[in-house]
Amino acid sequence: MAEVAGVTVDTAHWIGGERVGSAAAFTDVSPIDEQPIAEIARGGAAEAEAAVTAATRAFPAWARTSREERARLLHAIADGVDKRVEELAQVETADNGALIRSHRRGVMPRVAHNFRFFADWLLQLGHDDFETRGHRNHVSWDPAGVCALITPWNAPLMLATWKVAPALAAGNTVVLKPAEWSPLTASLLADIAAEAGLPDGALNVVQGFGAEAGAALVAHPGVRRISFTGSVPTARTIAAAAAPNLTPLSLELGGKSPLLVFADADLDLAVDLAVEQYDNAGQVCLAATRLLVEASVAGEFTERFLARAERLVQGDPRDLSTDIGPQIHRRHFERVDGLVRRATKDGARALLGGGPNTDLGGLYYRPTLFTGAPAGSEILSEEVFGPVLTLQTFDTEEQAVAMANDTRFGLAATLATGDPERAARVTERLVAGTVWVNCFFVRDLRAPFGGSRQSGVGREGGDWSFDFYCDVKNTVMAPWEK
Ligand code: NAD
Repeated sequence: MAEVAGVTVDTAHWIGGERVGSAAAFTDVSPIDEQPIAEIARGGAAEAEAAVTAATRAFPAWARTSREERARLLHAIADGVDKRVEELAQVETADNGALIRSHRRGVMPRVAHNFRFFADWLLQLGHDDFETRGHRNHVSWDPAGVCALITPWNAPLMLATWKVAPALAAGNTVVLKPAEWSPLTASLLADIAAEAGLPDGALNVVQGFGAEAGAALVAHPGVRRISFTGSVPTARTIAAAAAPNLTPLSLELGGKSPLLVFADADLDLAVDLAVEQYDNAGQVCLAATRLLVEASVAGEFTERFLARAERLVQGDPRDLSTDIGPQIHRRHFERVDGLVRRATKDGARALLGGGPNTDLGGLYYRPTLFTGAPAGSEILSEEVFGPVLTLQTFDTEEQAVAMANDTRFGLAATLATGDPERAARVTERLVAGTVWVNCFFVRDLRAPFGGSRQSGVGREGGDWSFDFYCDVKNTVMAPWEK
């Protein structure tokens, strides 16, 4: 048990409806001040095995539970989340350093919405029926079995429930392995699900490191689906571990997304969109970190951007006036700093920031904007996952599209333009799972979500989630003799 921000959090695993400890533990540190906040059970192969066994045992009954009853229970979980928004927000902020005001207003309500949305979607999920030469085809969405869900630290509960909710809705049982840098709210979710009456073993939470608990889960032959959100190198390891069992995978990975600003854009809007990329201290997979600006407006854009960005308040994420909090962990902070230092060495010039916030110390990194990075340099091609943007200019639409697509990623792209025809032309040519035109981060769970190229494999959201989490079956029935 730990007391975090006044909330009691169970630091054990949640397996088969029981709290289960481990002989070993690891220390969870708050990014706000780098102080330890909890000792967490450190799971490995034994805990992964126990959780898959519990989930396997719970599967037949849960799979047979009516859609209406599954939907009712998911709504009850959403109600439980709503009741505990403040506690969840406080614990998440202590654990991963993201702004309390975002957790209260946006993130935790979205967690509840994840459950409500997939519960309601389940109820209207169609059963296709059609005839072939007098034979009846019937397409059904059957539950697949035990799902291993592996999640990152940048939006821990939101990303976990984006998987847990559709997987449970589809009639599967799940084992969730949250990131070791932000393990706490997954444990609170287990409490909420139990209080809502979810059957034992339908949701299991195994805590621990990726190379231990995570690796054991994804290699387990009893797992029927793996849904992973995280980095490309980990995705490769997981795909290799899944290969012997041919376990189907959904991979939601990193990005190096562009924001294209055309001369015909509303420049104030374009600046707003650019500054928004520092949200969550830059630790957002979808962040448009490459600002590509038409040369004729680049001077004015930069001036207005700097004026706006210099007003951003950096500090304690619990403070309502804070715009940018800390980086998640010392190791991550150092990775970001290494990329910034090498960018400077490569010849890029920082127009803003360019290093740690020495006034605040700790894990606070200054919002940074680089210009003049040489073509092909690391800062233009590697995902930083910190508050670091680059600025490049283009002269023609053709060049803008080529620069936008000049990356091994393809998660998202954002466009600022006043010309709808240009928007249509450019959008069609961009390689990205999501394109936003004159807006950013407008999300609808009915829409497909995922990445192209190395930003991911597969799509989730709406029917796409059920496609992934179900074994889709077609039954062909001959006419019955009278
Ligand atoms: P990560 O890959 O280091 O870790 C993610 C999860 O994988 C953690 O729970 C970790 O413990 C686990 N893991 C690590 N090694 C494993 C292994 N061998 N087997 C099984 N599990 C293992 O990623 P991170 O640093 O936590 O997250 C940041 C990355 O996530 C960034 O690249 C970011 O772009 C990406 N991300 C993508 C999306 C998206 O929707 N596309 C959303 C958020 C974050």
